[in-house]
Amino acid sequence: MIYKCPKCGQTSEQAGNCPNCNVPMNEETAPANGGAAPETSQPQESQGSKE
Ligand SMILES: [Zn+2]
Repeated sequence: MIYKCPKCGQTSEQAGNCPNCNVPMNEETAPANGGAAPETSQPQESQGSKE
């Protein structure tokens, strides 16, 4: 689990207060292995005619 400061964006693997702002850090649920940008480097064949 990753925790992120809502003010400065500082991230930490442990829950607690931000070392910079001294505010409680929120749980960051964003995927760490990048799921928003799917790589389409692989040639897709017979996936569908785009014409
Ligand atoms: Zn902070």
